[in-house]
Amino acid sequence: MNVYDSWRIAAMLDARGMCATKSVADADIIILNTCSVREKATNKVFSELGRIRDTKKPDALFGIVGCVAREAGAKAFHRIPELNFVLGPQSYHRLPEILENPDTKLLNIDLAGLEKFDELPQMIKAPTVSYIPIQEGCNHCCTYCIVPYTRGREISRAFDDVMRDTAAAAKTGAVEICFLGQNVNGYKYTDENGKTYRLSDLIRATAVMPEIRRIRFTSSYPTEMTDDLIDMFRTEPKLLPFLNMPIQSGSPDVLKRMNRPYSLDSYLEIIDKLRAARPDIQISSDFIVGFPGETDSDFEKTVDIARRVKYINSYSFKYSPRPHTAAALMPNQIPENIKRARLAILDNELNEIQREFNEQCINKTMLCLCEGPDKTGRHLLYRTPYMQQCIVTKKTDQAPETMAQIKITAANRASLRGEFVKD
Ligand code: SAH
Repeated sequence: MNVYDSWRIAAMLDARGMCATKSVADADIIILNTCSVREKATNKVFSELGRIRDTKKPDALFGIVGCVAREAGAKAFHRIPELNFVLGPQSYHRLPEILENPDTKLLNIDLAGLEKFDELPQMIKAPTVSYIPIQEGCNHCCTYCIVPYTRGREISRAFDDVMRDTAAAAKTGAVEICFLGQNVNGYKYTDENGKTYRLSDLIRATAVMPEIRRIRFTSSYPTEMTDDLIDMFRTEPKLLPFLNMPIQSGSPDVLKRMNRPYSLDSYLEIIDKLRAARPDIQISSDFIVGFPGETDSDFEKTVDIARRVKYINSYSFKYSPRPHTAAALMPNQIPENIKRARLAILDNELNEIQREFNEQCINKTMLCLCEGPDKTGRHLLYRTPYMQQCIVTKKTDQAPETMAQIKITAANRASLRGEFVKD
């Protein structure tokens, strides 16, 4: 979502005749887009702002946007008095106001509505992989999570608005659409005639666009994986056989304290249904280790479930206490050294599973999407349907095919090697 927000901010400035610079010292405006899901990123923001202040041109405007801005509010101006603007994730469309009135201080951290989508200029050229936000905020109150506070309550965009953006992206260069939302599969929009649209309706309407070759969505909440959506994996070949569906922990006790309302059985049942719909589907997860009160035996259950589901492309984090969240106040916070040790064990396991899966891909042929040349310029980087990176040696100087059939020839934990298949 932050990558998407950054694009839109860049496009907004582009529409006003500005362009990106290579260094902070050359810039007339500097914008730090921020995330506050974990504490580490938040801590880095203010030291980075201090560095920017000391390197930028004296009259350059600078400010922060995103969730740390929302969280810091007016306090940000106290910490760094030179800041010109502080804008939350739902109000960055107001950025041009500071260009018009550079001598003011602009502060807006409201969460009201989705008006930014109406205010932002249309994208002129869509990236090959285009993110399309369909909902923002979250109504699930996971006890560790700051998102409901920083992005607000869940709100879905109008079906017609989403499809207008998707069609515009398809017409101006998008080949892959990734629908975005903090709780993307909770998407639900009822129009003035009382017709309700779900994520499955968006997928079906996008799959008929000839320019669009691949569709995916992130991130999903397990209990909102409804049958109509699972069925899309059976009926829509453009929907990639890959799904991020975070389990967070393998311990029923920890899940309860996290306020995640599923049992291991009900979660595994959803995976069974997904595999019945699309036998080649692979699942990815997010994991939190060292949640308050997590015992060794709780943690082992997380490692067990990772092995059992064989998650690929997963994310794992040490629990980070966040303001405004219930878990930050829970007893039995886990010491840092234990969190670190558990994370290393889980990461090791996840890497092993990834390497196994990557090796199983050897000799398979997959339709992959080109992301451009690598650093050396001798190879092309492709993305498989499972989001693995695949390195292919360039044969000619001709522009690469955006989509190509690639036979996987070698694999390690981090990436694949492949060659073009002539059809
Ligand atoms: N559904 C949301 C989740 C955002 S946070 C979205 O995609 O926008 C992404 C992941 O960060 C979560 O799935 C969780 O595993 C992790 N996370 C969230 N809060 C955390 C915290 N307080 N400490 C550690 N990890 C956290």
